[in-house]
Amino acid sequence: MEKIVSLCKRRGFIFQSSEIYGGLNGVWDYGPLGVELKNNLKQYWWQVTVRDRDDVVGLDGAILTHPAVLEASGHVDTFTDPMVDCRTCKARLRADQLSEKNGVKQCPNCGGKDLTEARPFNLMFQTQMGASADPASIAYLRPETAQSIFVQFKNVLDVSRKKLPFGIAQIGKAFRNEINPRNFTFRSREFEQMELEYFCRPEQGMDLLAYWLKERIRFYEEIGISRKRLHVLDVPETERAFYSKGTFDIEYEFPFGRQELEGVAYRTDYDLQQHIKASGKPLDYFDEETKERFVPHVVEPSAGVDRTVLALICDAYDEDSAPDEKGKMETRIVMRFHPRVAPIKCAIFPLLRNKEALVAKAREVQALLRPHMNVFYDEGGAIGRRYRRQDEIGTPFGVTIDFETLGEKGEELRDTVTLRDRDSMKQERVAIKDLPQLIPSKIR
Ligand code: ATP
Repeated sequence: MEKIVSLCKRRGFIFQSSEIYGGLNGVWDYGPLGVELKNNLKQYWWQVTVRDRDDVVGLDGAILTHPAVLEASGHVDTFTDPMVDCRTCKARLRADQLSEKNGVKQCPNCGGKDLTEARPFNLMFQTQMGASADPASIAYLRPETAQSIFVQFKNVLDVSRKKLPFGIAQIGKAFRNEINPRNFTFRSREFEQMELEYFCRPEQGMDLLAYWLKERIRFYEEIGISRKRLHVLDVPETERAFYSKGTFDIEYEFPFGRQELEGVAYRTDYDLQQHIKASGKPLDYFDEETKERFVPHVVEPSAGVDRTVLALICDAYDEDSAPDEKGKMETRIVMRFHPRVAPIKCAIFPLLRNKEALVAKAREVQALLRPHMNVFYDEGGAIGRRYRRQDEIGTPFGVTIDFETLGEKGEELRDTVTLRDRDSMKQERVAIKDLPQLIPSKIR
């Protein structure tokens, strides 16, 4: 994990937020490569969840949330973690994360046994809207994206004219005042979710739960996460939310242990019913064929963007060996990102930076490929070093413009380049004009 955290900072995937002021605990900024990786992940999720389907539409709800929404959903009353304070080292700890020695609970930081009683701690961030500071001006930063979907259910249904089963999808920020942010970005206070609320008839709920679990596992495989590190936990009834008839956690084997990436839950009609009760508005569905009116049930696959980015990074990290300039084998760090999510798809290298004709040709190749993918131009240093820098950030393809390209080693090689594959390190000679089709065909 240390190697991964250090690479993330060194190469610009993830930085501590407000770092120059000592950092803000549990809050992270994504650097130039991190934002590309994260955007690729979100775009692919949106593509397969919304655009490739007839039965799902999108929503982008506000972060600031009316307290009534979160009172109805139960977050104001129950979204709490019991916590204790250690009187010795002053640490604030989650009651379920204390260590135990000979049956006595102790502080995992200092080993102290002088702990306060457990008290509930609400995980929501509260803020004030407008100039006055009275209780009527309270608003919350949403703790999940799902509630705006439930609250907008009727509006979306009316404008989209969808028939059950259909879904509403959303990607966006959520905020939880986690007591112990830890394991790098895994448990953050500000994070992003990718959530789908898939509405259905009550009798379809259990089948759709199984269907979405399968779809979601397939998604992780399609972005390159190895199936053997993914696990499905069938959450026992005693640990499920009381309204859920079935919940699966999709877990990933992080270097710090097996942890939840996504929850796929059959939430019955709980959320819509709560908002019907609290708002007095009819959030029901009228079935034209059977002439029935009822409140739909819902299956929710709820994934974390940041946790998935972290899983992608952990899964991609690899070390093998490759020859240096003198042919001596050295350790190579290589991020084996699936080309679909890789921050940069193709790097473009003129063999020498001081040969104008090579540089001009390389710039031409860059302009040719730019409309098709994220490319990176690099002319600095020995070619082996440049390959290595790209391997370390997971760029799947490298194109080198050399003297053959200029036609200096025979006319038949003019306007051809070498195309290098990150994983096999093999190079093939291809025509420049074929690159805009060839590389995308290897990415999809
Ligand atoms: P945990 O038990 O790990 O706190 P949870 O079961 O409370 O997670 P959900 O409420 O089901 O999480 O949220 C859905 C998804 O949102 C999670 O699977 C996770 O990917 C993401 N998520 C939740 N809390 C955080 C957090 N603090 N930091 C990063 N991602 C989070």
